[in-house]
Amino acid sequence: MNKKRLLVVILIVFSVSALIYLASLQQEQDESNGKIKVVVTVPPQAEFVNKVGGDKVEVMVMVPPGADPHTYEPLPKQLKQVSNARVYYEVGSGMEFELAWLDKIQSINPHLLMVNSSQGIQFIPNTAENEPGNDPHVWVSPKNAKIMVNDIYNSLVQIDPANQDYYTKNRDQYLLELDELDKNITESLKGKENTKIIVYHPAWGYFCRDYNLQQIPIESGGKEPTPQEIADVIDLAKKENIKVIFVEPQYSPKNAEVIASEIGGQVVAVDDLAPNYLENMKKVAEAFSKV
Ligand SMILES: [Zn+2]
Repeated sequence: MNKKRLLVVILIVFSVSALIYLASLQQEQDESNGKIKVVVTVPPQAEFVNKVGGDKVEVMVMVPPGADPHTYEPLPKQLKQVSNARVYYEVGSGMEFELAWLDKIQSINPHLLMVNSSQGIQFIPNTAENEPGNDPHVWVSPKNAKIMVNDIYNSLVQIDPANQDYYTKNRDQYLLELDELDKNITESLKGKENTKIIVYHPAWGYFCRDYNLQQIPIESGGKEPTPQEIADVIDLAKKENIKVIFVEPQYSPKNAEVIASEIGGQVVAVDDLAPNYLENMKKVAEAFSKV
């Protein structure tokens, strides 16, 4: 080998080593903001993970506030972000977004740990008669939320056992707050047993199960209600003297407004997907208690 060729080889070896070194630095930086990158499907789960994980986790929500997890399609940017996440906490209740996208997400990031955060939850069937399957909106029950929080806790402790005490303290504190919420809701719905709640979208099955209310949905299966279905709800509301129609912000209030004006009632917004879970659920209970 002549001198010139040797120099070229040395240069190449040096450049490649430098590149490998820089790449490893970059990777270290990605991981060493010290946070476990977590992906969840809906905003209430983000509160659950943040409350348990504290400053050890960084949470990304696939279905952002205001979007509908029955129909949402992730942005290319979001699919790129899951490629360096560590764990995905599935709602695990058969929500359409998860049925349609989890396989794709797993194939983008084969190292992503998929954890079902509904382990231990007793599913109930969908409220609407013509809608088969289980009600996927498990998180609207604070009792279910406690189960989800424990599932998340168990998984975080497995991923990061060194911080078990930290996660335990956080979890215990948040479970107390969820118990407090459960008590508050029971209190504010006292005497409302078997009250019928007319809602646009049947997201409240588990809430109604826990607090003895009856959910009457206007739409089911994501389809606009037919004129006959609207007429039936109007008849029922008149017969039962119901004056409030609840609508979730992910849906157009148009049909709810038609019904409300027919019965001389009003439309009230309740959100099953708001990110500030504790606060939001208290507001929902207050709204239902005024029916
Ligand atoms: Zn829904």
